[in-house]
Amino acid sequence: MRVLLVEDDPMIGAAVQAALKDASYATDWVRDGLSALTTVRTQHYDLILLDLGLPGRDGLEVLTSIRATGDPVPLLILTARDALDARLQGLDGGADDYLLKPFDMAELLARMRAVLRRKGGTGSPALTNGMVTLDPVTKMASVPDRESAALSAREFSLLQALLIRPGAILSRRELEDRIYGWGEEVESNAVEFLIHGLRRKLGTDVIRNVRGLGWMVSKPT
Ligand code: CA
Repeated sequence: MRVLLVEDDPMIGAAVQAALKDASYATDWVRDGLSALTTVRTQHYDLILLDLGLPGRDGLEVLTSIRATGDPVPLLILTARDALDARLQGLDGGADDYLLKPFDMAELLARMRAVLRRKGGTGSPALTNGMVTLDPVTKMASVPDRESAALSAREFSLLQALLIRPGAILSRRELEDRIYGWGEEVESNAVEFLIHGLRRKLGTDVIRNVRGLGWMVSKPT
């Protein structure tokens, strides 16, 4: 799952980026409003974390511009305790939730899951296609007649990307997009390597290869 973090404070930004990476989100971090707007035009995000006090265009302008295009992307505002007016304007302007600084990373992650859940199921407590079930909190995957398996952060991201849309074929590029943030080195055979690991843990028929196109998990029957 890919997250855009818009935050000009270097300490907060670095801490959030590290926490998101630990939680298996591919994260891109921009530090001002204009970069945020440029970025959302060219890249799909599953969720945006938006600071309100930004240099140049502030967070509310960014929010308004994003919603003006009809983009329903889940969006969580990060803001200072004293900025009540801005917070309310943010909610009125189409933010899905807000979090007061300083916040606990565990709370941030829980709020993100809650927003994703409300906005269309991608953050639902468990994702399943009827064959394999993935728990985003524990990062455990299970299939019938096998012991539950603990997944690595990247295995989790890959399987999650497939399970969000069972039956859809995702190309190598699309999978890499969901797994890696900007500046992260992508090994040429990384996707195959992760799929090999998942099949070893969950059985070979869990993920299907569609020759020349990519990979998929089956639709629920
Ligand atoms: Ca700020």
